[in-house]
Amino acid sequence: MAAKLVPGEGPKNAKIVFIGEAPGAEEEKLGRPFVGRAGKFLDKQLKLHGINRKKVYITNVVKVRCIGPPTDRQIKKYLPILKKELKQINPKVIVLLGKTAAKAVPLDLDVTYFELPHPSAAMRFTKMRNKFEIGMKTLARLVC
Ligand code: URA
Repeated sequence: MAAKLVPGEGPKNAKIVFIGEAPGAEEEKLGRPFVGRAGKFLDKQLKLHGINRKKVYITNVVKVRCIGPPTDRQIKKYLPILKKELKQINPKVIVLLGKTAAKAVPLDLDVTYFELPHPSAAMRFTKMRNKFEIGMKTLARLVC
């Protein structure tokens, strides 16, 4: 069976774009990014810091579910879609959620890049959660 594509979600004129790694099982099932456990954590953090999920665009580097971290080949395959999304949206701020996004994305764009730990890591490890929350506070100051 062909892998199910999970597209980015949000307004096409969003000022902020969040980029994760790849959809998980729940995302694949519902066809929406960040709707599983990591998504619930992200939602909670956005709300806590006064950022409305409906006003931001959320997407992933790789658009299909990966078993384990995406390979360089998978990243390369889906990068053109991400570039197209970013060109169309033309955001002011791009939030890179985790190592895959941080490695894949810094593209030659006139935007502010902002790195946060991946929500899955922030959920599990106190150190990552602290880093995530400090980062979200700074981000909220920047964009709210
Ligand atoms: N869900 C997503 O959509 N992306 C991730 O990187 C993790 C969970």
